[in-house]
Amino acid sequence: MKPNNAEYIKELNRKNILNIIRSTPSSRATLAEKTGLTRAAITFIINELIDKGMVYDREIVKSSIGRYPTILDINAKYGYVAGVLLERHCCCVCIADFKCNVIAETTIDSSQSPNVVMTIDHIAVAIDQLLENAGLTKDMLLAVGISSPGPVDYKSGVILNPPDFEMWHRIPVTDLLSRVLGVPAYIENISVALAIAEYRYGISNIFRSSLFIEAASGIGSAVIVNGKVFRGSAGFGVELGHSCVDVNGDKCTCGNHGCLEMYASLKSLEHIFADKWPGSWEKVMDGMESGDEDCTEIFNHEVKYLSAALANAANSYDLDGIILSRDFAHKSEKLISQLHEELTKRSIISQIHPVRIEIAKFTGTSNSSLRASAATAIEHCL
Ligand SMILES: [Zn+2]
Repeated sequence: MKPNNAEYIKELNRKNILNIIRSTPSSRATLAEKTGLTRAAITFIINELIDKGMVYDREIVKSSIGRYPTILDINAKYGYVAGVLLERHCCCVCIADFKCNVIAETTIDSSQSPNVVMTIDHIAVAIDQLLENAGLTKDMLLAVGISSPGPVDYKSGVILNPPDFEMWHRIPVTDLLSRVLGVPAYIENISVALAIAEYRYGISNIFRSSLFIEAASGIGSAVIVNGKVFRGSAGFGVELGHSCVDVNGDKCTCGNHGCLEMYASLKSLEHIFADKWPGSWEKVMDGMESGDEDCTEIFNHEVKYLSAALANAANSYDLDGIILSRDFAHKSEKLISQLHEELTKRSIISQIHPVRIEIAKFTGTSNSSLRASAATAIEHCL
């Protein structure tokens, strides 16, 4: 049933306030300023959130001339969520508090599980075990967030047809896990989950329209506009990896020709530069720094194709920020400066206003993807 208008607006204001506090703990005055709500309205909503245990007054300090305003913060112990990261040969599971700090994690070797039902059972057992080890009871678990290679249908909770992921094709994974655990479950494709986590807990909330992009075996991407994931007409968002950067290029598995993924993913670089590939993007950057010609050639190739796609994205979504993640983070200064130079030449938008390129705050940490899965759950608990 749809809430009435007043309830709907109150709900929006409540979420807005919680989202501000979780990215930056704030005073009531700052909340009033940022939301445009009256101090009385802020006080009313905050009192409700304090009564619920979701936020608390974090006193800073008393001075001789009076008290400084108290800062409101999210109560990390309000509740806990589980994060599940489904990968091709294993799945990782974590428990995170309400501020999205991972407090326990484990890895399950799913290659030993012959079917989905058994893997779901293993995940549920792992979550129970992690809760118990952390001294938490099952009723403290609010929700489960799952991230998986895309495409996924985040609304129905079904994993569609990611390549090399046949066991999970057309599986209603949120329904299955929710039924076993007795709490709601939500799913996002891993790039969207990472983009959401970066927006809520990282650096991208300074941008109005930002692209999150990562390179691995494919190219993952997501766009966030004014704090909301750009979903498109059916929820599948932005597939920049399958945008064309060479109309005369070979045919991609998606049916298009010359897709970015065929030139700029790490798997493609390894294939294109079979005789020159040093083993990883990190080694490419290390080699280039020490003047290695092969590594410099690979780097220049990456910049050429990636910058073409970034210019397309900047022009399509009027971006003011681009967040590079995962392997791109290693010794990124040169990559950022070269991409920026190309972008300024190629994108009309970047000639009108600055388009900053940054490295994701949480990239490179071993549990950043797992944390992103937990963030997916928290999004739905506010
Ligand atoms: Zn393609």
